[in-house]
Amino acid sequence: MPAPSTKKPKKSLKVLFVTPEIHPLIKTGGLADVSGALPAALRELGTEVRVLVPGYPKVLAGAKNKRLLYTFHDLPEAGEVRLLSASLPGSGVPLLIIDCPVLYQRDGGPYQNPTGIDWPDNAQRFALLSRIGAILGSDASPLSFRPDIVHCNDWQSALVPAFLHFMHGKKAATVMTIHNLAFQGIFPPHVVDEVGLPPACFSIEGVEYYGNFSTLKAGLYYTDHISTVSPTYAQEIQQKALGFGMQGLLARRSNKLTGIVNGIDTSDWNPATDPHLVQGYDAGQMAGKTANKLALQEKMGLKRDPDIPLLGMISRITQQKGGDLLLEIAPQLLQENVQIVLLGTGETVLENGFRNLAHAHPDNVGVTIGFDEGLSHLVEAGADMFLMPSRFEPCGLNQMYSQRYGTPPIVHATGGLTDTVEDGVTGFIFSPMTAKAFLASIHRALATYRDKQAWHAIQHNAMTRDFSWKKSAEDYLALYKSVLSPES
Ligand code: ADP
Repeated sequence: MPAPSTKKPKKSLKVLFVTPEIHPLIKTGGLADVSGALPAALRELGTEVRVLVPGYPKVLAGAKNKRLLYTFHDLPEAGEVRLLSASLPGSGVPLLIIDCPVLYQRDGGPYQNPTGIDWPDNAQRFALLSRIGAILGSDASPLSFRPDIVHCNDWQSALVPAFLHFMHGKKAATVMTIHNLAFQGIFPPHVVDEVGLPPACFSIEGVEYYGNFSTLKAGLYYTDHISTVSPTYAQEIQQKALGFGMQGLLARRSNKLTGIVNGIDTSDWNPATDPHLVQGYDAGQMAGKTANKLALQEKMGLKRDPDIPLLGMISRITQQKGGDLLLEIAPQLLQENVQIVLLGTGETVLENGFRNLAHAHPDNVGVTIGFDEGLSHLVEAGADMFLMPSRFEPCGLNQMYSQRYGTPPIVHATGGLTDTVEDGVTGFIFSPMTAKAFLASIHRALATYRDKQAWHAIQHNAMTRDFSWKKSAEDYLALYKSVLSPES
């Protein structure tokens, strides 16, 4: 019998991941996808992870194995706050849910009421998320799970580093990830006091942002390390054009700023097994893609024709995503034999613009205003090309989903789009951000589409690229380790 090993088992790294949304429980955008997938990928690498989320109705209803862990009695935001342990459906990632009905138990979205207005108590709602994140990362934690790293995401959890900074005793290091710098958690100055931060931190060297209080700035200022979701975006946000007023701070902290591209959930987004498709397919067997195209055309009320190039777009319909640019080129584009399918919600003027476009071209333009997970999968599979004319895009997910689904993306040269699409190899990149350049890139794609061999080569390159979370999770793990021992 071999002698028992005298080596101590290697201590696994412990991470508390703090997020305001997580797929498949609650989602408004890409942050939910990241929160659903990265912790699972980190666990595969041997990291011990807990994900801290607010207990919105959908989270409480969908989480598995809920159990009361602890009751907080004296937090400034609410009287009694229960902390539940649970697990994420699907991956089984351990969750910590903040059950605080006065702040989270309400109809509507995580940040807005049913009519799209921000909840008036968002400062308190997300100060509570951050406060509990900070407590769990400190000596004051009531749990035996003591994280080495608290990983914060966007403004909603960005007070964790600030709270921890002013706490005493042993505490976790923090990583603050920017998923979109446009959302900054801006509140009036008196909120600094209400959340219990010292008045002195309301300064340029602290949480002040052009006369107001920004929770994101607090995170960026006090965190040990900043990350964002692509290397190109990490560079762009240090400059005025895309720095949203934070460029000075970010440039000054550039040696603590890293860009790591998101992965995608390759089991949710697998054209061979996707339950939302009418027929599965893969790079070696593409017949199913045509069946999905016909199904999509039928569902959107378009003329059923396998040969008409079908351009898909799924997005928040906002200035950021460049829906206006598509509306601008649509009259010219529709003089050719193409179809356009759009799924999204957003700014009323743009939504109406797309509704009118569909009304004027019923055979060629299909528009669904709304959020529909199932339909988004069918659009990825049924479209021939995918449009992403974003003005800026920290990482972007749809361009990766579309490559995996053999639907080459046509993207503006910005942020993560630059880092994840290879022009002429897996998709098409245009620059500058003008209607002329966008239209020219669509023409380039259409010309390639007519050359069946060239098109199949692009589809094949795109579908066989590795967009899994493994590589990104390895990069995050390396980042955590470097934050914990900066000298090594
Ligand atoms: P962002 O987070 O800036 O909105 P991303 O591309 O990073 O953009 O992620 C958007 C995610 O939300 C993708 O998973 C996309 O498919 C999904 N999505 C956006 N709008 C809709 C919609 N109307 N219906 C279904 N899914 C949507």
